[in-house]
Amino acid sequence: MTAFRTLDQADVKGKRVLVRVDLNVPMENGRVTDATRIERVLPTIREIAEKGGRVILLAHFGRPKGRDLKESLKHVAEAVSKHLGKTIAFADDCIGESAAQAVNALKDGDVLLLENTRFHAGEETNDPAFVQELAKLGDLYVNDAFSAAHRAHASTEGLARVLPSYAGRTMQQELDALTKGLEAPKRPVVAIVGGAKVSTKIDLLENLVAKVDALVIGGGMANTFVHATGLGIGKSLAEKDLAATAMRIIEKARASNCAIILPVDGVCAYEFKAGALNHTYGIDAIPEDQMILDVGSQSVERIAAAINDAATLVWNGPLGAFEIAPFDQGTVAAARHAAQRTKEGKLVSVAGGGDTVAALNHAGVADDFTYVSTAGGAFLEWLEGKSLPGVEALRA
Ligand code: AMP
Repeated sequence: MTAFRTLDQADVKGKRVLVRVDLNVPMENGRVTDATRIERVLPTIREIAEKGGRVILLAHFGRPKGRDLKESLKHVAEAVSKHLGKTIAFADDCIGESAAQAVNALKDGDVLLLENTRFHAGEETNDPAFVQELAKLGDLYVNDAFSAAHRAHASTEGLARVLPSYAGRTMQQELDALTKGLEAPKRPVVAIVGGAKVSTKIDLLENLVAKVDALVIGGGMANTFVHATGLGIGKSLAEKDLAATAMRIIEKARASNCAIILPVDGVCAYEFKAGALNHTYGIDAIPEDQMILDVGSQSVERIAAAINDAATLVWNGPLGAFEIAPFDQGTVAAARHAAQRTKEGKLVSVAGGGDTVAALNHAGVADDFTYVSTAGGAFLEWLEGKSLPGVEALRA
């Protein structure tokens, strides 16, 4: 890397720097319940402030239809101050008089958060007039919100077209990791894809089989594949109408020399419930009145062997119903194995997507992977091979 302009090329001293960040944090009763996203944007804010730039943060929050104070960023500003260790200013609009006044009041090294960009319809339509209103407030633009980069919105894409623009440190780290994961990976590459459904991940599977050397399929979506190969899956979650799609993906994998690794056994129960009575069966002997809720131990062994053969791992989606014990065991065992190989310096491991982060945290290994992306939609679109407008706009 790097094909992107980064903070290394930006002269921020004395400049008004518009920084797009992801502050779409979970909140309850006005309190932030998970500050991961805040923590991730601190390095960029600190670096620009320490270099004497005037930091003007732009972010969206929730999905408001127009100005709706229930989705104000005011409380988030307090949380950012706390984590940053210094008070930041807040303006109750992201354009217009109040924003301009707040920006004019900034001294070098100060930080300001502007109100939710989605209070204006022009944000999501990427309206050039709204982009110009935002652009008036800054001299430079830095995008540190990879998780919003799959949207061509005013604050994620439009601004990068009208101001000198740069990737922030978190964006840069994410792009580096993604390049190592799939664009220019060390081979062999193995991908693990799990989760509930095939239907939400068809494009992703099609893209991966063309790029990786082996694809492990687990979770509920594996049931659809097992069914497609003609085996019984009892009462397991599956999309039987997608059998042809599953076969097409298997064919495409064969044509691309990508090995498909399906479960060879499954942990089965009569009901989807924590602690449900369970038993492991071979994949060709799943009882008609039970459902597969996790991959079995022989499947885990195969997955571990595939990880051992790989130099790079890309992971999205749990291998079983990891939220309900003991059906978390397959996911936990595979995650710990990948973490161990990573710690030994034998594997580059990149994981992402909503439930994946939760599953790796549950296994206690999120910090041991090479990189764990907290981006949901943007990470999935990248796995699908799509170009992300917010990233494209930063290309040098
Ligand atoms: P996704 O959002 O597509 O990544 O799916 C994640 C969800 O898939 C989690 O809530 C898991 O509980 C669920 N899941 C994984 N494996 C199974 C399975 N064998 N049966 C039912 N649900 C599953």
